[in-house]
Amino acid sequence: MGIVSLPSSEMEPEKPTRSQVLTLEEVRKELGDCKRCKLHQTRRTIVFGEGNEKATLMFIGEGPGYDEDVQGRPFVGRAGQLLTKIIQSINLQREEVYIANIIKCRPPQNRNPEPDEIQSCNPFLRKQIQVIQPKIICALGTFSAQTLLKTETKITTLRGKFYDLEGIKVIPTYHPAFLLRNPDKKREVWEDMKKIAEWINNA
Ligand code: SF4
Repeated sequence: MGIVSLPSSEMEPEKPTRSQVLTLEEVRKELGDCKRCKLHQTRRTIVFGEGNEKATLMFIGEGPGYDEDVQGRPFVGRAGQLLTKIIQSINLQREEVYIANIIKCRPPQNRNPEPDEIQSCNPFLRKQIQVIQPKIICALGTFSAQTLLKTETKITTLRGKFYDLEGIKVIPTYHPAFLLRNPDKKREVWEDMKKIAEWINNA
């Protein structure tokens, strides 16, 4: 599988020195009761992310939905249950990976995040990536893939290929919520997950 290089972008995690790397707890503390963008006005809870601080594999979705906003945890609704099954399909448990989103507060009516919201939230996602130092990131859905890879290429073209993000491999696949509406696409996600499992097993 070839690695596709994309131009460097502001979305890429900076390479910090050891002394600059915080813990996830410190990143969460720094985020505080965040009001850095307008989404704070309508959210119930900040959905920071959860999982293994030393995860090899990180999943990054788009943003919290209704259930996530209520519970303060990522991917806990129907799409989240499907993500849990997808993770288990490669013999991993949710607790072994790390799950986060491009933005940490639910947009009203689940609309797409706006550029200023992403810009405000992105430094914290970058810090999470710096702390965790995953070997591989699975970008879930169009929005996550296009934002992380700074591209407008469609998910149908992006998915199933490895990209390089400052030494971290990124592989986009379909979002579980899309799979709920299009179950015929599960096969392709399964193929992508097999590539992830193969890569992890050979790393
Ligand atoms: S989306 Fe991010 S930047 Fe905006 S208020 Fe929530 S945590 Fe802060």
